[in-house]
Amino acid sequence: ATPVAIMVGTGKGAENGILIKSGEALERAHDIDTVVMDKTGTITEGRPRVTAVDPFGMDEALFLAAAAGLEQGSEHPLAEAVTSYVAARGIAPQPMEHFEAIAGRGVRAESSGAVWLAGNAEFLREQGIDMTPYEQRLNALADSGCTPLLFACGGTAAGLIGAADVEKPTSAGAIRRFRQMGIDVIMLTGDNARTAEAIRRRLDIPRVIAGVLPQNKAQHIAALQAAGHKVAMIGDGINDAPALAQADVGIAIGAGTDVAIESADAVLMRSDLLDAVSAVRLSRAVIRNIR
Ligand code: ADP
Ligand code: MG
Repeated sequence: ATPVAIMVGTGKGAENGILIKSGEALERAHDIDTVVMDKTGTITEGRPRVTAVDPFGMDEALFLAAAAGLEQGSEHPLAEAVTSYVAARGIAPQPMEHFEAIAGRGVRAESSGAVWLAGNAEFLREQGIDMTPYEQRLNALADSGCTPLLFACGGTAAGLIGAADVEKPTSAGAIRRFRQMGIDVIMLTGDNARTAEAIRRRLDIPRVIAGVLPQNKAQHIAALQAAGHKVAMIGDGINDAPALAQADVGIAIGAGTDVAIESADAVLMRSDLLDAVSAVRLSRAVIRNIR
């Protein structure tokens, strides 16, 4: 591509809210065949809200007080969903201490000597909590597209909270357009397989890779590249940064974290996935004009 064509291309991108950091990145985008998208904050708004509360035999207000006390020790958006829900009900969080947040898993804390846990099913199972009596309630929540948060106290399951995150209005359209352009779309998420599957179906996404730990996202990109694919990754979180750097083209959501923006080749200033479609179209147009 000529320097002038590239300049015109990046200029056009900027006019449309797509910040492309280098001419090489604009060129590389023309032949990508796979777009990997993070779920939370990329396909969805990233602001989950509590939609279900299910204390296993415990008083609901006491359960919510403990849940909020525990989630105060986490900076995860799911934790924020719980603490704001409980605060809105005028329930004071139960005081806790010795907080420990485990990335991609959950959080642990103590209250008057008792260990409290919150997290996904794997995390609670790893901690020796028997979830079998609650499996059906858990699966029903996940099948509806909610993320189930499991709670345990003193080695036994204590309750369940469901949190749902809405899709951005243009996500389905962007996914459809990528597919019409012959580009495969994969959703990559730390969320559990059932919840991911419910969202995959709703948005008609060809493939999902679920239950991915933050530190493993980049490996999935590398594996696709090793299989001969040209991969664009779109993400917003700290945990997406290595995957954005690994991808042939890393695209950050403008409303995302600084680390993601720094690691990417392009930034969607309007945080709209349709602008990622425009970026690939722009790249194809620039390359076509030169050849
Ligand atoms: P995502 O890709 O959705 O941002 P993460 O890798 O951050 O996911 O977390 C994966 C899963 O771990 C979440 O879907 C949730 O089930 C669980 N989890 C993480 N942090 C917490 C928390 N503070 N409270 C409850 N569950 C959590
Ligand atoms: Mg995210």
